Amino acid sequence: VKKSKPTNESFLPTLNMTFLEGSERAVKWEYDPYATTAQWTCTATLVKVEPVPFAEGAFRKAYHTQDLSKPNESGRYVSKISKKPTARGSYFEDVRMQMIAKKWADKYNALKPPKKIEFLQSCVLEFVDRTSSDLVCGAEPYVEGQYRKYNNNSGFVSNDERNTPQSFSHFTYEHSNRQLLIIDIQGVGDHYTDPQIHTYDGVGFGIGNLGQKGFEKFLDTHKCNAICQYLNLQSINPKSEKSDCGTVPRPDLIFPDTSIERD
Ligand code: ADP
Ligand code: ZN
Repeated sequence: VKKSKPTNESFLPTLNMTFLEGSERAVKWEYDPYATTAQWTCTATLVKVEPVPFAEGAFRKAYHTQDLSKPNESGRYVSKISKKPTARGSYFEDVRMQMIAKKWADKYNALKPPKKIEFLQSCVLEFVDRTSSDLVCGAEPYVEGQYRKYNNNSGFVSNDERNTPQSFSHFTYEHSNRQLLIIDIQGVGDHYTDPQIHTYDGVGFGIGNLGQKGFEKFLDTHKCNAICQYLNLQSINPKSEKSDCGTVPRPDLIFPDTSIERD
């Protein structure tokens, strides 16, 4: 690998990075959901983004990326770039959403569930040397393993027998006093990324915030499991199972004769 010095020394005044061929300068924006002021901070870094994506979803392409400011860690990142022209602000909104989800994951873990979860620490990268297209992207650590989607914002629930991701969504709804719901749980194992937050008032968190409609889609399809019970969450029954129960709770009657119709 050919090494040379960064062209602009003043950009990297204190960082002692190795300039790899093909690397470029970037400003890295991070959001701290625990901070009361100055939630956004930025640092200068050097990154090397592979020119060809290794994966893509419906909306974005994913590129292997090396963050050269992390010489002691693997520095392996994924940069995600929208296929359609996207406002700079929406990359920031996505990072903010993921970091707020991270805070909720901490709350969830505090209840000592069988499996701890985490949202990847994401950031916005602004490529300062580029003059056209893709001046900004979202980035986060690369996670090895099978990437799976556990649920989504239109009521999809995967049938992979995983309880934790579904219970986490239910947990956020209950513990926010039904003011928000974190959905679109996906990632590798219990390392999650790219969540969506629905809010009661439908305000903020991008166009994916379906508000109370989003709540309903979840409530229609979520089936409570052993972890929901462990967390003492108020039970949710999918519509299909609710329909023959009526609205009045049935008392615990004792029927002496099994031939008696109960309903
Ligand atoms: P979209 O926003 O279009 O749905 P995704 O966020 O799903 O795009 O990203 C596209 C693909 O990139 C994913 O399906 C997955 O294969 C891969 N990917 C995304 N994030 C990571 C990550 N942190 N580590 C490894 N692979 C990832
Ligand atoms: Zn539940």
